Amino acid sequence: MNREKMIEELSKIVGKENVLYSDTDLLLYGYDASLFKGKPDCIVFPGSTEEVSKVVKFCHQEKIPVIPRGSGTNLSGGTIPTKGGVIVHFSRMNKILEIDLENQRAVVEPGLFTLTLKNQLVRYGYVYQPDPASEKVSTFGGNFAENSGGPHCLKYGVTTNHVLGAEVVLPDGEVIQVGGKALDQPGYDLTGLLVGSEGTLGIATKLILRIMPKPEAVKTLLAIFNSLEDAGRTVSAIIADGIVPATLEILDKLTIKAVEESVHAGFPLDAEAVLLIEIDGLKDGMERLAERIMDICRKNQAREVRSAKTESERMQLWAGRKGAFGAIARLRPNYLVCDGTVPRTKLPEVLTRVMEVSKKYNLPIANVFHAGDGNLHPLILFDERDEDELKRVHLAGSEIMKLCADAGGTISGEHGIGTEKMREMLFVFSPQDIAAMKKVKMAFDPEEILNPGKVLPEVSA
Ligand SMILES: Cc1cc2nc3c(=O)[nH]c(=O)nc-3n(C[C@H](O)[C@H](O)[C@H](O)COP(=O)(O)OP(=O)(O)OC[C@H]3O[C@@H](n4cnc5c(N)ncnc54)[C@H](O)[C@@H]3O)c2cc1C
Repeated sequence: MNREKMIEELSKIVGKENVLYSDTDLLLYGYDASLFKGKPDCIVFPGSTEEVSKVVKFCHQEKIPVIPRGSGTNLSGGTIPTKGGVIVHFSRMNKILEIDLENQRAVVEPGLFTLTLKNQLVRYGYVYQPDPASEKVSTFGGNFAENSGGPHCLKYGVTTNHVLGAEVVLPDGEVIQVGGKALDQPGYDLTGLLVGSEGTLGIATKLILRIMPKPEAVKTLLAIFNSLEDAGRTVSAIIADGIVPATLEILDKLTIKAVEESVHAGFPLDAEAVLLIEIDGLKDGMERLAERIMDICRKNQAREVRSAKTESERMQLWAGRKGAFGAIARLRPNYLVCDGTVPRTKLPEVLTRVMEVSKKYNLPIANVFHAGDGNLHPLILFDERDEDELKRVHLAGSEIMKLCADAGGTISGEHGIGTEKMREMLFVFSPQDIAAMKKVKMAFDPEEILNPGKVLPEVSA
């Protein structure tokens, strides 16, 4: 079908004013927060599940690729239209449909920003726990598809632990319900399968989320180190002591410098690393727990441990952590965010190796990461206008993934595989493993129209 006819048909479904196709629009929706680029045929903005279903049915019939898109903040090329096609954008489907405090559930549309729900919940004394650093703009559809994490996921679990059900449009346009408000749903766990499937198996049009009462008390500590490895060792020591804080986040020297130049969070510029620790729960016993943690930090060479005295001091520390990626963007024109996970005890060793990769490829690397989960985020700084640097960045990124895999870890903690890390899937999965995943894809999407060219590499088992 030619493009004009396609746009005409899609306009009949969502309305002419909700289809974009100018050259500028195609350019703007051809990239995301990864290093990749593509070009869609058009972008549609449906306003209801029914419209999503009709768009997908039409594309299925005409064998046109469909790429679901939230805010495009994913870091793995998950929304790149590698084979052209129709981008289905959810900015019009962005409502909170229900806040059910009695059952501790919220029902939302996929285009809702994560923080918008959280801000609404505050007034009831409730919280939705997963907190990607991008939460101001990331959508629930994107969180669902990437199985997003965040600092508080150490204690509370990642998105999959908080999505209890969904309304989903399948690649042929049929609408199904998976999971529900109640726990322990019978039948196959399709919710579990769909969370983290990166828009390749189904499109979420409604999400049922777990919400919970806000913890009674919170305490935030900042441990300051003269060595990144000591900070890493402290993380393992705290957990080994039987303590699971709400967060354990590390920022290294280069990140501290960038943060202090922009956010002014109060991190000491001469430190090699800081460890941001938050504990939450009952007021009773919190001070004692904080003392225990401070003691462990000191035993592991922390030169100082500070405690946020006021809510504004606490918010300042978190502004530093949450603004870290943005701050690093000031250092060089581009950066590649690597996302790998290693067993916590391997953190010091792997961090040392990461810095060796930095030297080998002559590229600065900043580290800011969910240390408690062993989830590393080396940020490789470069300038994409320098072709040789660009080549070295890809090699360095892949080598860091190999380091993580070889250390008994894996190649994504939360950012997904997308177009970026398909080859690296073979670092952690055999061709047989990948063939089994491909069978799942084929069961859902035999025509391969939904977000094609993502996640699974071509292999012969
Ligand atoms: C500065 C910065 C900080 C970040 N910090 C974190 C962090 O702390 N933790 C973390 O996990 N991630 C983080 N990310 C990555 C990113 O924000 C998350 O992956 C987020 O969930 C993506 O949401 P989005 O709305 O931008 O989705 P998009 O990027 O638009 O899409 C992501 C994926 O979801 C699919 N998708 C979108 N909507 C739907 C839907 N309705 N149904 C099915 N599939 C859909 C897309 O096809 C794509 O595969 C960060 C990114 C940036 C730029």
